[in-house]
Amino acid sequence: MSYKFDTVKVRGGYNAKEHNNSVGIPVYATAAFDFDGYDHFNNIRAGAQLGFLYSRVGNPTVAALEARVAQLDGGSAALAFASGMAALSNTLLAVTGGKGRILSTKQIYGGTFDLENDVFPSIGIEFDLIDHDSSIEEWAALIKEDTKAIFVESISNPGARLLDIESLAELAHKNGIPLVIDNTFATPYLFRPFEHGADIIIYSATKALNGHGNAIGGVVVEGKPFNWTEDKYPQFYKKHWVARDLDNNPRSFIEAFPQFPFTALLRTKYLAYFGASLSPYDAQLILIGIETLSERVSKQVANARKLVEYLDSRSDVVSWISYPEHKDSKYKALAEKYFPNGTGAIFTFGFKGNDDQINKLINSIQLFGFQANVGDARSLLINSPKTTHGELTPEELEAANIKPETIRLSLGLEDADDLIADLDQAFAKAFEE
Ligand SMILES: *Cc1c(COP(=O)(O)O)cnc(C)c1O
Repeated sequence: MSYKFDTVKVRGGYNAKEHNNSVGIPVYATAAFDFDGYDHFNNIRAGAQLGFLYSRVGNPTVAALEARVAQLDGGSAALAFASGMAALSNTLLAVTGGKGRILSTKQIYGGTFDLENDVFPSIGIEFDLIDHDSSIEEWAALIKEDTKAIFVESISNPGARLLDIESLAELAHKNGIPLVIDNTFATPYLFRPFEHGADIIIYSATKALNGHGNAIGGVVVEGKPFNWTEDKYPQFYKKHWVARDLDNNPRSFIEAFPQFPFTALLRTKYLAYFGASLSPYDAQLILIGIETLSERVSKQVANARKLVEYLDSRSDVVSWISYPEHKDSKYKALAEKYFPNGTGAIFTFGFKGNDDQINKLINSIQLFGFQANVGDARSLLINSPKTTHGELTPEELEAANIKPETIRLSLGLEDADDLIADLDQAFAKAFEE
């Protein structure tokens, strides 16, 4: 039976009959699982029977989250992590197999930028970072012999920039490499990467997927299996003792898990050994959050549109607005093509104040939170260049086109009139002598 999105978001991945008819998804607060005997253990170990061994590698509450997100995206499998950064760093490690290059953009989440620019190169994985608005020929020119993936955000952090995902997918596939998408800002409600050619999706579940700012988590979703070639991606073809069959014959991940070799490798070699596993308590919070994903995100989009309209009327204090649906946006056509439900509730604007006045604006908000988060049910704002993108040097900020006057808003579920009134009074206070 294949249900529609809103049915999956409340019911997907969980069958109460397998859990004592419990309507709420139980938290399996356990480190280990008792085996009925050696055969039971061996069957689970070899993947011949569904079951669990140890919660670092898999847990029923976490499995419900993985199955639900996989269904929402139309993927073949998903894997949860303790944070979005764990999902992202482990995915990029597994794709490269520990060496090679990844093509990504300069306009990306600050933590990701520093990971790509500093941490990964220190262990021999290089990144080519391109300007977001480059032509497809410029992208193509940066693909080298040992480039193993293209990695982008579907809506960029912080400037809500968009990309032509289908042409990037085509470019990636022509070169025999997968397209990996950080779909955190969009969530599966606003954008469905697999329908446009992506191969792997990453989420910070901390953000709008959960939506309540009460847990840190991440999810990786695998689409229909990518055609991993043996010369470029030997990690999928190497025979592993840990993937052995019931009779102890070592198998490759492609052999053992042909429907989802990537998440199988990621679980067995990366989640298991780097150990950034999601707690079942947090998995339950995120599952509950997902039950209202469409309702929350659609209201947040409506609030964002109202705030954009208000800021548009305040050209006395606002110099520019970076929102894909905005009349001045160069991403309007992409927004219409890829985002039928809207382009999200996060955007930036330029504040016509000096450094001191930016601080005053931030100190004057009463309803908006001043937080390094997005997608929460409560609205928040932040001066990105000094905070969420504070990892970037002034030169890197300029290259990423993040201007010093940038304020990023993330709209929540409050009444838009109250949010507008809050900005109104904070703008006034920012300019008081
Ligand atoms: C927050 C964020 C991350 C990191 O996620 P955490 O859950 O905080 O580790 C990655 N990508 C994007 C786009 C984000 O906004």
